[in-house]
Amino acid sequence: MSRCMPSAPTSTGLVLFPAFDWCISPTHPEREERLLYTKDQLIEEGLEDVNNISFFNPEIAAHHDIDRVHLCVPSSRKLLTESHLISAGGAIRAARAVMEREVEKAFAVVRPPGHHAMQTVFGDRGFCIVNIEAIMVEYIRRHYGIRKIAIVDTDCHHGDGTQDIFYNDPDTLFISLHQDGRTLYPGSGFLHESGGPSAPGYTINLPLPPETSEEGFDMAMERAIMPILDAFEPELIINSAGQDNHYTDPITNMNFTAQGYARLNRRLNPDICVLEGGYSIEGALPYTNLGIILAMAGLDTSHVREPDYDPANFVQPPEMNSYIGELCDQAVALFAGREQLRREQAEQGVVTTDKRIYYDTTGFDVRESRSYHLCPHCPGFTEITAAGLDRQVHAFSIPFNACPRCHTRAKDRFQKSSGDGHSQVVLQDRIDDLYELK
Ligand SMILES: [Zn+2]
Ligand SMILES: [Zn+2]
Repeated sequence: MSRCMPSAPTSTGLVLFPAFDWCISPTHPEREERLLYTKDQLIEEGLEDVNNISFFNPEIAAHHDIDRVHLCVPSSRKLLTESHLISAGGAIRAARAVMEREVEKAFAVVRPPGHHAMQTVFGDRGFCIVNIEAIMVEYIRRHYGIRKIAIVDTDCHHGDGTQDIFYNDPDTLFISLHQDGRTLYPGSGFLHESGGPSAPGYTINLPLPPETSEEGFDMAMERAIMPILDAFEPELIINSAGQDNHYTDPITNMNFTAQGYARLNRRLNPDICVLEGGYSIEGALPYTNLGIILAMAGLDTSHVREPDYDPANFVQPPEMNSYIGELCDQAVALFAGREQLRREQAEQGVVTTDKRIYYDTTGFDVRESRSYHLCPHCPGFTEITAAGLDRQVHAFSIPFNACPRCHTRAKDRFQKSSGDGHSQVVLQDRIDDLYELK
């Protein structure tokens, strides 16, 4: 398959970290050889010799980078392995390559993945422990002063962790398209989950029916995602590039293809891609990853086809098209009404929500309560209490875009709170870039 390749029109960086020494268990879908065939395919395609495609080594993320985003209980040092720090560091390296103009675009082909990891972390859920995109986003904000960022999650599973982390942030537009949560883990990701009181309409979920194929994804792109992105005008677009929508994926029920992924990527035109799921190790990942990379680099993707690819297998019934079309119209309407909704909700002062977070890997529940302290001038600060196993955290989280008054109010509350043997009290201050514990 090796061929004489032209120089890539768009300079593209790749960070490859297969984490060959880390797995959940030897038979688990998230295991060491997940990226083995992808690596072979990239070499076979001759990508290392293409002008304008560069390979970068991942860095090791600092615990400080993790703590800027997460509230790890008991601590990030106790919960994470070195592989997690390298996976997050791989995403950071990809971002740095783009922000420092070493390349125009970059793709972090790394594992373990991250998009099911929420702000509070008590362990693994959905194969994820820390959210590598979120860690990268806050790193970018801290180091390069970028404000408006869009994350488009194209993994087959709802990106519930990323949604959770940015739920009340109107400077982060989070769009997730995924298999309908009534039919797949984690069971969430419906249109009505549309953002916290300071960011209503800034979370957009597009739950697609099982068996959605290229046509349905194209439709979601053209009728919802692209118009919403254009209206948001992000400074940076990030693709959480999960590839388990593929028709050969063993743990999902979609009908997407390598051609479809390549086209989606060309249209989305993300600055940075970060690999998420994808468990068809031989049948999908080598093709989907290659298609995405070539599309990012502006190279021809017409030859990237699975050996058994036949477009006739992927025709959608008309009722599926009308269902997806309606969903797109509702999503666009939701986003269009965001400012009106936000003005109405800001009046409420403090809004408290409760949820139960299930950790499927080892099987336990965390009860979490979140109080949004709202403000007419900024998204406000968030007070979180969470308890699970025999641990508890009580945190004050200050977003990077809080106003000086909310910054001071949150710090005062932290000073006045006291911990005990079971509960740790945390100040997560993204303005002063501090993480304090007592
Ligand atoms: Zn997935
Ligand atoms: Zn404020």
